[in-house]
Amino acid sequence: MYKQLIYIEKEIATHCNTLKIIEKFKESNIIYIDHYKDVFNQSGSNWRLQKKSQKLILAKRKDNFYYKGSNITPNFGYDNFYYNTLALNCVYDCDYCYLQGLFTSAHLVIFVNNEDFIEETKKLILNKTEKFYFALSYDTDLLAIEHWFPFCKEWINFANETKNLFIEIRSKSANYKALENLKPNTNVILAWTLSPSEIINQYEPQTPNLNLRVNAIKVLIEKGWRVRVCIDPILKIKNWNLHYEDLLEKINSEIGFDKLDSVSLGVFRMNKVFLKSMQRNREDTDILYYPYTLNNSNYSYSENEKNELINFVTDKIKYFNENLTIEII
Ligand code: SF4
Repeated sequence: MYKQLIYIEKEIATHCNTLKIIEKFKESNIIYIDHYKDVFNQSGSNWRLQKKSQKLILAKRKDNFYYKGSNITPNFGYDNFYYNTLALNCVYDCDYCYLQGLFTSAHLVIFVNNEDFIEETKKLILNKTEKFYFALSYDTDLLAIEHWFPFCKEWINFANETKNLFIEIRSKSANYKALENLKPNTNVILAWTLSPSEIINQYEPQTPNLNLRVNAIKVLIEKGWRVRVCIDPILKIKNWNLHYEDLLEKINSEIGFDKLDSVSLGVFRMNKVFLKSMQRNREDTDILYYPYTLNNSNYSYSENEKNELINFVTDKIKYFNENLTIEII
């Protein structure tokens, strides 16, 4: 898809990382632009139409190199919880993805000046005694684009030399090969989102299937990496309990809950404005039309439904490993 056209900000046209990325797309036409927002924020854009021919935009981030997680963001026990946005949008196209409501454009923006992100993060955490937890793969799936630019590798190297920096890289990719030759580091948590095959097939187009994701986890655990499994969003589809039971049994038999660092659970939830915008743009997925309950500007399952879903999954995990850390979002 990116073969046809890449937009590049003039200011980073000769940046070494820009050159590395466009080397992978030799047949693409390039349009030089002043600012990524000239393309990304165009009014009248149709997210769904753009997603069908998603373009790549290479840009320079000049500010907001990190954000502090809000009080309601899961912080995994770290008070200093931050996230950054090295890229905007994703190569995958999950039906329930909030990015469809967050951005008006579906084009994929990559900020090539990773060195500035790292430098600004250094200024924040160096000479501090407390631990800092950074979620890297926010608003994107970085590991899925690691073969274009090694963001994950550069951040893992940064974490290797920075004792008080902990990073989480969350993915649905099967791209374990990008990491298998790196030295495992306990400051790095690789987090994989897993769903029952029925959900992957129906609601997670373009993502690797469950076997591929499970295999990636197995390989990296064997290499010594810490891996967190995220079952999020849990969706109340027909026969959901049977599908989640199958998923949990598969995780136990093929990976082993005793091998995991932790598990993170969450049910479908969506900002009210995002969901309304997504519904306006698509009628092709029932997951956006479930009669969710509105609570504090977010749509989700009712409290009873949420408890039923979370308790079911939690109880099964505890049956396999009662000591495993389970974070519920
Ligand atoms: S993998 Fe995550 S970020 Fe990418 S489309 Fe799916 S939900 Fe969105």
